[in-house]
Amino acid sequence: MSRYDRIDTKLVHAGEPRPRIGGAVTVPIFQTSTFEQDSDTPYDDIRYARLSNTPNHDVLHAKLAALEGGEAALVTSSGMAAISTTLLALLRPGDHLIAQRCLYGGTHDLVTKDLADLGIEHSFVDGDDVEQWARALRPTTRAFYCESLTNPLLEVADLPSIVGFCQSHGLVSVIDNTFTSPVCFRPLEHGFDVVLHSATKYLGGHSDVVAGAVVGRSDVVEHVRQKLNHLGACLEPFGCFLLHRGLKTLALRVRHQSGTASTLAHFLSKHEAIATVYHPSLATHPQQARARALFDAMGGVLSFTLKDTSVPVERFIRKLDLPVYAPSLGGVESLITRPARSSHAGLSAKAREELGISDGLIRLSVGLEAASDLMMDLHQALDPSEDERTT
Ligand SMILES: *Cc1c(COP(=O)(O)O)cnc(C)c1O
Repeated sequence: MSRYDRIDTKLVHAGEPRPRIGGAVTVPIFQTSTFEQDSDTPYDDIRYARLSNTPNHDVLHAKLAALEGGEAALVTSSGMAAISTTLLALLRPGDHLIAQRCLYGGTHDLVTKDLADLGIEHSFVDGDDVEQWARALRPTTRAFYCESLTNPLLEVADLPSIVGFCQSHGLVSVIDNTFTSPVCFRPLEHGFDVVLHSATKYLGGHSDVVAGAVVGRSDVVEHVRQKLNHLGACLEPFGCFLLHRGLKTLALRVRHQSGTASTLAHFLSKHEAIATVYHPSLATHPQQARARALFDAMGGVLSFTLKDTSVPVERFIRKLDLPVYAPSLGGVESLITRPARSSHAGLSAKAREELGISDGLIRLSVGLEAASDLMMDLHQALDPSEDERTT
């Protein structure tokens, strides 16, 4: 299989059992908690669903490792399970973590509350400010945590410099690759040690499964796997099946969504009712050159603000026909949300303002609808003369 290095082929074929199980073209769901053992089965070879070693887990692990170019992978019961289990495997009380500012809300709370309760310290830094990283460094610093594209402003940190910084200071570099997916960006190819995913988003891709993934070197993934066995956040067999099924179309979906997101970003940036648009495909994006150098596609999420701040954002969102007003991203249906009310609701208004997340900011996760239909829908919802429209 390693002969075929295109991601489209890997999505379909990598990790699939040969010979196929019972001749089945797709891997059947092994809806069983435990498996028969022989009298001489070594303890480590016992198959049990919590140990993430059923055939449904095995195929996903091999496929995800191939997609990200890692030695090994592990699936978990959610993206937060991947993140918390990995950080708990890497960090001990007294250790220190450097983390990019503006993390996913759940990760931010994990670091500032749960890890802090355990005596694991942290410093938040700007993803672009190398000198700030050096000032944050302590003798106890163990790891650097960042995201490939930040939520909701779609910023791209100086990822190559983060890798270099970690290598020169003996830190583990950890990156949440949820927003880009391996179709747009493969951090391990750029020297990152550990890649994390909320597979709930693009990897699953159909808004019907909550799952997570960890990919990296075998020794690191094995360490996380042991922690996961103890903490128990395994992905159950039906979740494995849904994730496996969703993954096969990842490249088609993400390329299409990235293309539509770029089209909509350009359309919105020229629209008179729009103040600012955030998407790495735009010339106005501060790290467009970096995104182009690192990413194969720019991702399917964009954010924007309305020019007229007296227009209630809720009214605009309610006027849209197609995007579903819901948190999350990466599904086949477009999803629209207000980060100040969802992913970043836990932060104080002041903290949000410092991060540049205004109350009026709108985030759109582009689905698989026709770009022209999404454009038509945005156009009618932005048209003030339509405000009296009855629905
Ligand atoms: C959604 C998300 C998570 C958390 O994933 P869950 O599957 O909801 O636990 C983590 N990181 C990012 C970037 C996300 O978008």
